[in-house]
Amino acid sequence: MGSFIFSLAHFCETHGPTVVLNTQHIATEQHEKLISSNYDQQACESCKLQLPGGSSTLTSIDNEVTYVSTQYPTSQAKYSILRQVAIKCLSVESTSELSPVMFGDPILGFTLACIFKISDNTARGGERRYSVMIVAEDESELIHYWNIIATNFKEWIHCIKQKREQVLSRQAEQGNNEQFFRRTQLSNKNMVQLLEDPQFFVKMHVWASGVLKQLVN
Ligand SMILES: [Zn+2]
Repeated sequence: MGSFIFSLAHFCETHGPTVVLNTQHIATEQHEKLISSNYDQQACESCKLQLPGGSSTLTSIDNEVTYVSTQYPTSQAKYSILRQVAIKCLSVESTSELSPVMFGDPILGFTLACIFKISDNTARGGERRYSVMIVAEDESELIHYWNIIATNFKEWIHCIKQKREQVLSRQAEQGNNEQFFRRTQLSNKNMVQLLEDPQFFVKMHVWASGVLKQLVN
């Protein structure tokens, strides 16, 4: 099977483009290899992977393949690749929100990414920028699976944006409308807080594993 890494990156206002979550797959008998080492990376409220119970790793097994989600991947080399990909996706103000983009080279690997924004008046500019990405070693594999990946990305982003709208209208109904507080202090927030969903990253792991499963089977 080919080798793919799924990743969620965020443009953190404190730390710049940051990898928040990555999901890797491996043959089940070797899955210990995917538990990340403890890098001395800094993460704030906006860019940390916030899992229930303070856990740092999510694992699920599907027959002979194990899917592991962590904030930092197994090797420093993979981390460095993902970080460079995140920088490429999120450093420039993108006009291509929701249109999948592909880029890469034989050294860094090839990436299919979709950039999206979440409204939040406590963020600079009133929005927070994210990117979902699949990195593959082989360009032809990414092209082969383009439609599957792009469709999954769009559906997931649509779902996240919808949930955010629901949170904002619920806050408005409760008289806690962030829109009224234009001068509200800027604050760091992650998806768990933006969507008011403590299980957000668990759901993301399940979804990312499902997407990877379609590519590796
Ligand atoms: Zn940060």
